Amino acid sequence: MAFPATRMRRLRKTGVLRGMVRETELSPSHLVYPMFVGLGEARAPIEAMPGIDRLSISHAVEEAGQAQELGIAALLLFGVPADKDEVGSGAYDEEGVVQLAVRAITEAHPDLVVITDVCLCGYTSHGHCGVVLEDGRIDNDATLDLLARTAVSHAQAGAHAVAPSDMMDGRVGALRGALDAEGCQDTPSVAYSAKFASAFYGPFREAADSAPAFGDRRSYQMDPANADEAVREALLDVEEGADMVMVKPALPYLDVIRRVKEATRVPVAAYNVSGEYSMLKAAAAAGYLDERATVLEALTAIRRAGADVVISYHAKDVARWLR
Ligand SMILES: [Zn+2]
Repeated sequence: MAFPATRMRRLRKTGVLRGMVRETELSPSHLVYPMFVGLGEARAPIEAMPGIDRLSISHAVEEAGQAQELGIAALLLFGVPADKDEVGSGAYDEEGVVQLAVRAITEAHPDLVVITDVCLCGYTSHGHCGVVLEDGRIDNDATLDLLARTAVSHAQAGAHAVAPSDMMDGRVGALRGALDAEGCQDTPSVAYSAKFASAFYGPFREAADSAPAFGDRRSYQMDPANADEAVREALLDVEEGADMVMVKPALPYLDVIRRVKEATRVPVAAYNVSGEYSMLKAAAAAGYLDERATVLEALTAIRRAGADVVISYHAKDVARWLR
């Protein structure tokens, strides 16, 4: 039956009616707040990400407490080490910055879920996510062992989940095997399955000090033009034991989120990345957009596309607005 028997506006008449038939819910329990943690006592603002700072461990404990009070489900931790080397040894150092931060945060806030980013790029002098060969190529298989060591050291420090973000082939299975062998069989992995070689990561690289010293990451991160390949990546990660898969970035890849969700039927996380954050912050600061309305719309759209979990720098603001 079409118009006039059917009138779509009938259920849009009042706020209560609209609320009753709303299909997508956005709540703090779906949100993950990313944090950059360094050694030392300083708290350093990140210029390209207004409102986000690089934190010391004690500041991170404090911010973790705020996030928990706001009802945010989880944190995603990135370490900013004091020293870097060719093989990223700070990533799998038991006394490394992430390991220390995980211990401090989980001790202070035992009910908050702490997820750690597992990669080498923040810890390598060349800034690549894997071991670099003499000719500049990234050695996939030699990298797997270092990633597995990193994941195990995070889990042993108390991380509730590990999130490999490097995009090496076979890393999810390698991590699963190593975690299981070391008694961490109950630690889930959240795989950055469809991580695109995106220009929207720009501000993050300042935050985590992880820009590659030469070349780019297109030999391991995905071509933004490919969606079938993203589905294949996610299915392979599920086969290798991923408990949750991720699409990164989020807003320019809503179709990929939907397709990955439909193909895998496992929990899907979407990473609303630094460039997505900075765009809205800049437009709001210039008076071009209403920050609160646009952020809520953007995050609701990411959930509507199929994301069970949204990782976002807006998480604390959103949790406050939804109160
Ligand atoms: Zn990396």
